[in-house]
Amino acid sequence: AKKHGNNSYHFYTADLNGKSRENLELEMDLYKAIENDELILHYQPQFHLSTGEYIGNEALIRWNHPKRGMVSPFHFIPIAEETGLIIPIGEWVLKTACAQNKAWQQAGLPPIVVSVNLSSRQFSQSNLVGVVERVLAETKLEAKYLDLEITESMTVDVKQTINTLQALKKLGVKISIDDFGTGYSSLSYLKEFPIDCLKIDQSFIRDCHEDQSNATIVKTIISMAHHLNIQVIAEGVETKEHLDFLQQNLCDAVQGYLLSKPIPAENIEEQFPDFQKI
Ligand code: C2E
Ligand code: CA
Ligand code: CA
Ligand code: CA
Repeated sequence: AKKHGNNSYHFYTADLNGKSRENLELEMDLYKAIENDELILHYQPQFHLSTGEYIGNEALIRWNHPKRGMVSPFHFIPIAEETGLIIPIGEWVLKTACAQNKAWQQAGLPPIVVSVNLSSRQFSQSNLVGVVERVLAETKLEAKYLDLEITESMTVDVKQTINTLQALKKLGVKISIDDFGTGYSSLSYLKEFPIDCLKIDQSFIRDCHEDQSNATIVKTIISMAHHLNIQVIAEGVETKEHLDFLQQNLCDAVQGYLLSKPIPAENIEEQFPDFQKI
């Protein structure tokens, strides 16, 4: 960086230092976050589009930092990935989400699926299948009520991906491709991966009713997926226009602020009856 007439160079470096120091602090705090019970899961409901049926929740992690308040996963998941902390954190997420879903079933609520985000490092960890199997056994959740979300960027090693996905499918869990359309690798492999569902990224849903290219992308993903016998869920559904567009184009399921934001488990419990008739 070079110095301009003003002080911009100075500000630039100061900002960089500030950023890395902040990340370093977060990293040290993150080590203690699990044992200090600072991590929690929020759940965002998902609905079948043609029937309105409440079919599942996506588990989304939150970090209630003692000094900073709620820290976004956009901020700390990359740190967790880099340091390897994502392995214990990811296992905590999986276990907490499965246990919660089982608890709702035991409370007599209609059984629904819980979707858990896997990070890249988790997905390539050699004992992932063993971890999932153990968590299902420990929480006594039936495998068909667990959905694992991976992203296209994790599927670079095609052979490895097929092996892992086939082993997971053997357990009976569902597999979804998250943020679909933002990567570029998986199109030709979609038929080889045992995938249950594509989640259309919210960047395509935004303006899909007025932006012609987004509309085309969304329609094409839905039609292609259905030809491959894969379900489609749209995320980031914020308006009635989004909903109508997706309904017209036969999208299977929806998730977004229009229906519900991600909320704590207690609120899910309270709102269960309302979610039945959305
Ligand atoms: P994602 O998996 O793509 O999750 C969807 C994000 O969109 C969530 O942000 C959710 O709160 C937000 N969202 C939902 N509906 C709407 C909507 O209608 N409009 C808009 N604008 N946003 C909506 P969140 O919870 O901040 O999570 C951000 C990302 O952090 C997630 O993106 C995911 O990549 C990652 N993440 C969250 N929880 C976990 C986790 O347990 N493990 C891993 N590995 N990653 C996680
Ligand atoms: Ca996700
Ligand atoms: Ca997503
Ligand atoms: Ca995303």
